[in-house]
Amino acid sequence: MNFYVLTLFPEMIAQGLNTSITGRAIEKGRISVEPINIRDYSHDKHHHVDDAPYGGGAGMVMQPGPVVEAYEALCSRLNRRPRVIYMTPQGNVFCQEKAKELSQEEDLVFLCGHYEGIDERALEMICTDYLSVGDYVLTGGELPAMVMIDCISRLVPGVLNNEVSAEVESFHDNLLEYPQYTRPECFRGERVPEVLLSGHHQKIEEWRRQQSIRRTLARRPDLLKEARLSKKEEKYLEELKQESGKNSP
Ligand code: SAM
Repeated sequence: MNFYVLTLFPEMIAQGLNTSITGRAIEKGRISVEPINIRDYSHDKHHHVDDAPYGGGAGMVMQPGPVVEAYEALCSRLNRRPRVIYMTPQGNVFCQEKAKELSQEEDLVFLCGHYEGIDERALEMICTDYLSVGDYVLTGGELPAMVMIDCISRLVPGVLNNEVSAEVESFHDNLLEYPQYTRPECFRGERVPEVLLSGHHQKIEEWRRQQSIRRTLARRPDLLKEARLSKKEEKYLEELKQESGKNSP
Protein backbone atom coordinates (compact mmCIF):
# COMPACT_ATOMS: atom_id res chain seq x y z
CA MET A 1 0.00 0.00 0.00
CA ASN A 2 1.32 3.45 -0.89
CA PHE A 3 0.87 6.54 1.27
CA TYR A 4 1.58 10.03 -0.11
CA VAL A 5 1.64 12.98 2.26
CA LEU A 6 1.21 16.50 0.91
CA THR A 7 2.90 18.68 3.52
CA LEU A 8 5.01 21.76 4.20
CA PHE A 9 7.13 19.69 6.62
CA PRO A 10 8.21 16.53 4.77
CA GLU A 11 11.02 15.82 7.23
CA MET A 12 8.47 15.34 10.02
CA ILE A 13 6.78 12.53 8.12
CA ALA A 14 10.03 10.83 7.08
CA GLN A 15 11.41 10.92 10.61
CA GLY A 16 8.15 9.94 12.26
CA LEU A 17 7.41 6.81 10.27
CA ASN A 18 10.85 5.42 9.47
CA THR A 19 11.25 3.62 12.80
CA SER A 20 9.88 0.52 14.51
CA ILE A 21 7.08 -1.47 12.84
CA THR A 22 6.26 1.09 10.13
CA GLY A 23 9.99 1.50 9.41
CA ARG A 24 10.37 -2.26 8.96
CA ALA A 25 7.24 -2.39 6.78
CA ILE A 26 8.76 0.28 4.54
CA GLU A 27 12.05 -1.62 4.40
CA LYS A 28 10.26 -4.86 3.49
CA GLY A 29 8.24 -3.04 0.82
CA ARG A 30 4.84 -3.82 2.42
CA ILE A 31 4.05 -0.10 2.49
CA SER A 32 5.66 3.00 1.04
CA VAL A 33 5.46 6.50 2.51
CA GLU A 34 6.32 9.43 0.28
CA PRO A 35 6.22 12.95 1.70
CA ILE A 36 5.62 15.54 -1.03
CA ASN A 37 6.69 19.09 -0.29
CA ILE A 38 3.89 21.48 -1.26
CA ARG A 39 6.45 24.31 -1.25
CA ASP A 40 8.13 22.74 -4.31
CA TYR A 41 5.01 23.75 -6.28
CA SER A 42 5.11 27.44 -5.34
CA HIS A 43 5.66 29.84 -8.25
CA ASP A 44 6.64 32.61 -5.87
CA LYS A 45 10.33 33.55 -6.02
CA HIS A 46 10.55 33.28 -2.22
CA HIS A 47 8.62 29.97 -2.29
CA HIS A 48 5.73 31.45 -0.31
CA VAL A 49 2.70 29.20 -0.07
CA ASP A 50 0.41 31.23 2.19
CA ASP A 51 -1.28 34.61 2.28
CA ALA A 52 -3.66 36.68 4.43
CA PRO A 53 -7.32 35.60 4.49
CA TYR A 54 -9.77 37.52 2.29
CA GLY A 55 -12.22 39.34 4.52
CA GLY A 56 -9.61 39.83 7.23
CA GLY A 57 -8.95 37.90 10.40
CA ALA A 58 -6.03 36.33 12.17
CA GLY A 59 -3.29 34.15 10.65
CA MET A 60 -2.43 33.00 7.15
CA VAL A 61 -4.14 30.63 4.73
CA MET A 62 -2.38 28.14 2.45
CA GLN A 63 -2.91 29.14 -1.17
CA PRO A 64 -4.75 26.77 -3.51
CA GLY A 65 -2.22 26.72 -6.41
CA PRO A 66 0.69 24.79 -4.83
CA VAL A 67 -1.67 22.28 -3.14
CA VAL A 68 -3.61 21.45 -6.31
CA GLU A 69 -0.47 21.36 -8.47
CA ALA A 70 1.31 19.04 -6.03
CA TYR A 71 -1.63 16.65 -6.23
CA GLU A 72 -1.93 16.90 -10.01
CA ALA A 73 1.78 16.16 -10.46
CA LEU A 74 1.31 13.03 -8.38
CA CYS A 75 -1.76 12.00 -10.43
CA SER A 76 0.19 12.41 -13.69
CA ARG A 77 3.01 10.29 -12.30
CA LEU A 78 0.65 7.53 -11.07
CA ASN A 79 -1.72 7.83 -13.99
CA ARG A 80 -4.72 7.78 -11.63
CA ARG A 81 -6.44 10.07 -9.10
CA PRO A 82 -6.09 8.49 -5.63
CA ARG A 83 -8.38 9.33 -2.74
CA VAL A 84 -7.30 12.50 -0.87
CA ILE A 85 -7.93 12.81 2.86
CA TYR A 86 -7.74 16.29 4.35
CA MET A 87 -6.58 16.31 7.96
CA THR A 88 -8.96 18.68 9.70
CA PRO A 89 -10.58 19.14 13.12
CA GLN A 90 -13.81 19.63 11.14
CA GLY A 91 -13.89 16.03 9.85
CA ASN A 92 -15.40 12.85 11.29
CA VAL A 93 -13.19 11.43 14.00
CA PHE A 94 -10.92 8.66 12.68
CA CYS A 95 -11.66 5.20 14.11
CA GLN A 96 -10.69 1.55 13.68
CA GLU A 97 -13.61 0.90 11.32
CA LYS A 98 -12.47 3.75 9.06
CA ALA A 99 -8.92 2.40 9.16
CA LYS A 100 -10.20 -0.98 7.98
CA GLU A 101 -12.03 0.65 5.08
CA LEU A 102 -9.02 2.76 4.05
CA SER A 103 -6.65 -0.23 4.25
CA GLN A 104 -8.42 -1.65 1.16
CA GLU A 105 -7.06 1.18 -1.03
CA GLU A 106 -3.89 0.78 -3.06
CA ASP A 107 -2.90 4.47 -2.80
CA LEU A 108 -3.93 7.11 -0.29
CA VAL A 109 -3.04 10.80 -0.19
CA PHE A 110 -3.00 12.70 3.11
CA LEU A 111 -3.25 16.46 2.84
CA CYS A 112 -1.82 18.36 5.81
CA GLY A 113 -2.85 21.93 6.51
CA HIS A 114 -0.94 24.48 8.56
CA TYR A 115 -1.59 28.02 9.81
CA GLU A 116 -5.35 28.73 9.50
CA GLY A 117 -5.83 25.90 7.02
CA ILE A 118 -6.12 25.66 3.23
CA ASP A 119 -8.04 27.77 0.69
CA GLU A 120 -11.48 26.14 0.36
CA ARG A 121 -11.28 25.96 -3.45
CA ALA A 122 -8.31 23.60 -3.33
CA LEU A 123 -10.16 21.35 -0.86
CA GLU A 124 -13.26 21.27 -3.05
CA MET A 125 -11.17 20.42 -6.11
CA ILE A 126 -9.16 17.50 -4.76
CA CYS A 127 -10.40 16.17 -1.39
CA THR A 128 -12.56 13.07 -1.15
CA ASP A 129 -12.55 12.68 2.66
CA TYR A 130 -12.26 14.94 5.72
CA LEU A 131 -10.91 13.29 8.86
CA SER A 132 -9.99 14.46 12.34
CA VAL A 133 -7.98 12.86 15.15
CA GLY A 134 -10.23 14.35 17.82
CA ASP A 135 -12.06 17.41 19.00
CA TYR A 136 -9.05 19.63 19.61
CA VAL A 137 -6.94 21.87 17.37
CA LEU A 138 -3.30 21.09 16.46
CA THR A 139 -0.80 23.31 14.65
CA GLY A 140 -0.67 21.08 11.57
CA GLY A 141 -1.97 17.95 9.88
CA GLU A 142 1.33 16.02 10.02
CA LEU A 143 0.77 14.32 13.39
CA PRO A 144 -2.80 13.30 12.46
CA ALA A 145 -1.54 11.91 9.12
CA MET A 146 1.13 9.88 10.93
CA VAL A 147 -1.43 8.57 13.43
CA MET A 148 -3.69 7.39 10.60
CA ILE A 149 -0.86 5.92 8.48
CA ASP A 150 0.43 4.01 11.50
CA CYS A 151 -3.02 2.60 12.25
CA ILE A 152 -3.88 1.70 8.63
CA SER A 153 -0.45 0.11 8.05
CA ARG A 154 -1.04 -2.40 10.85
CA LEU A 155 -3.97 -3.76 8.83
CA VAL A 156 -1.92 -4.26 5.66
CA PRO A 157 -1.04 -7.95 5.25
CA GLY A 158 2.55 -8.70 6.25
CA VAL A 159 3.12 -5.54 8.31
CA LEU A 160 2.58 -7.23 11.69
CA ASN A 161 4.35 -10.53 12.29
CA ASN A 162 1.22 -12.07 13.69
CA GLU A 163 -1.85 -11.09 11.70
CA VAL A 164 -4.21 -12.36 14.39
CA SER A 165 -2.88 -9.71 16.73
CA ALA A 166 -4.41 -6.91 14.63
CA GLU A 167 -7.74 -8.70 14.65
CA VAL A 168 -8.36 -9.34 18.33
CA GLU A 169 -7.28 -5.98 19.69
CA SER A 170 -9.36 -3.23 21.21
CA PHE A 171 -12.42 -2.26 19.13
CA HIS A 172 -12.72 -5.77 17.68
CA ASP A 173 -16.44 -6.61 18.19
CA ASN A 174 -16.69 -3.11 19.71
CA LEU A 175 -14.97 -4.27 22.91
CA LEU A 176 -11.72 -3.18 24.54
CA GLU A 177 -8.96 -5.74 24.82
CA TYR A 178 -8.64 -7.94 27.94
CA PRO A 179 -5.67 -7.33 30.30
CA GLN A 180 -2.37 -8.88 29.18
CA TYR A 181 0.33 -10.49 31.35
CA THR A 182 3.83 -11.87 30.78
CA ARG A 183 6.71 -13.27 32.90
CA PRO A 184 7.32 -13.31 35.83
CA GLU A 185 4.36 -15.25 37.22
CA CYS A 186 4.59 -13.27 40.44
CA PHE A 187 5.59 -9.58 40.47
CA ARG A 188 5.90 -7.81 43.85
CA GLY A 189 3.42 -10.26 45.32
CA GLU A 190 0.90 -9.90 42.47
CA ARG A 191 0.23 -13.17 40.66
CA VAL A 192 -0.88 -13.64 37.07
CA PRO A 193 -4.54 -14.82 36.99
CA GLU A 194 -4.49 -18.60 37.51
CA VAL A 195 -6.62 -19.39 34.45
CA LEU A 196 -3.90 -18.04 32.12
CA LEU A 197 -1.48 -20.67 33.44
CA SER A 198 -3.98 -23.51 33.09
CA GLY A 199 -3.30 -24.31 29.43
CA HIS A 200 -7.10 -24.71 29.02
CA HIS A 201 -7.74 -22.74 25.83
CA GLN A 202 -11.51 -22.61 26.05
CA LYS A 203 -11.45 -21.38 29.64
CA ILE A 204 -8.80 -18.77 28.77
CA GLU A 205 -10.90 -17.57 25.83
CA GLU A 206 -13.99 -17.29 28.02
CA TRP A 207 -12.06 -15.43 30.74
CA ARG A 208 -10.64 -12.99 28.18
CA ARG A 209 -14.05 -12.23 26.68
CA GLN A 210 -15.47 -11.60 30.15
CA GLN A 211 -12.55 -9.32 31.01
CA SER A 212 -13.11 -7.43 27.74
CA ILE A 213 -16.77 -6.91 28.58
CA ARG A 214 -15.96 -5.88 32.16
CA ARG A 215 -13.28 -3.43 31.00
CA THR A 216 -15.45 -1.94 28.26
CA LEU A 217 -18.26 -1.37 30.74
CA ALA A 218 -15.86 0.37 33.12
CA ARG A 219 -13.92 2.47 30.59
CA ARG A 220 -15.96 2.87 27.41
CA PRO A 221 -19.58 1.92 28.11
CA ASP A 222 -20.60 3.83 24.96
CA LEU A 223 -19.04 1.05 22.84
CA LEU A 224 -21.29 -1.64 24.31
CA LYS A 225 -24.33 -0.44 22.34
CA GLU A 226 -22.78 -1.93 19.19
CA ALA A 227 -20.83 -4.81 20.79
CA ARG A 228 -21.24 -8.27 19.31
CA LEU A 229 -22.07 -10.53 22.26
CA SER A 230 -23.41 -14.06 22.60
CA LYS A 231 -26.55 -14.65 24.65
CA LYS A 232 -24.39 -15.89 27.54
CA GLU A 233 -22.20 -12.79 27.32
CA GLU A 234 -25.24 -10.51 27.27
CA LYS A 235 -26.37 -12.15 30.49
CA TYR A 236 -22.91 -11.64 31.99
CA LEU A 237 -23.03 -7.96 31.01
CA GLU A 238 -26.44 -7.54 32.63
CA GLU A 239 -25.08 -9.05 35.85
CA LEU A 240 -22.09 -6.72 35.76
CA LYS A 241 -24.33 -3.71 35.22
CA GLN A 242 -26.44 -4.64 38.19
CA GLU A 243 -23.35 -5.15 40.34
CA SER A 244 -21.94 -1.77 39.40
CA GLY A 245 -25.26 0.09 39.35
CA LYS A 246 -24.75 1.00 35.67
CA ASN A 247 -28.18 -0.17 34.70
CA SER A 248 -29.69 3.28 34.44
CA PRO A 249 -29.87 4.63 30.84
N1 SAM B 1 -8.65 27.11 11.34
C1 SAM B 1 -8.88 25.69 11.35
C2 SAM B 1 -10.23 25.40 12.01
O1 SAM B 1 -10.62 26.13 12.91
O2 SAM B 1 -10.88 24.40 11.63
C3 SAM B 1 -7.79 24.97 12.15
C4 SAM B 1 -6.45 25.07 11.49
S1 SAM B 1 -5.22 24.17 12.36
C5 SAM B 1 -4.48 25.42 13.33
C6 SAM B 1 -4.00 23.88 11.13
C7 SAM B 1 -4.09 22.52 10.47
O3 SAM B 1 -3.84 21.52 11.44
C8 SAM B 1 -5.39 22.14 9.83
O4 SAM B 1 -5.50 22.65 8.53
C9 SAM B 1 -5.35 20.63 9.85
O5 SAM B 1 -4.69 20.11 8.70
C10 SAM B 1 -4.51 20.33 11.08
N2 SAM B 1 -5.31 19.92 12.26
C11 SAM B 1 -5.49 20.62 13.40
N3 SAM B 1 -6.24 19.96 14.28
C12 SAM B 1 -6.54 18.77 13.71
C13 SAM B 1 -7.31 17.64 14.13
N4 SAM B 1 -7.92 17.59 15.29
N5 SAM B 1 -7.40 16.59 13.26
C14 SAM B 1 -6.80 16.62 12.05
N6 SAM B 1 -6.07 17.67 11.61
C15 SAM B 1 -5.95 18.74 12.41
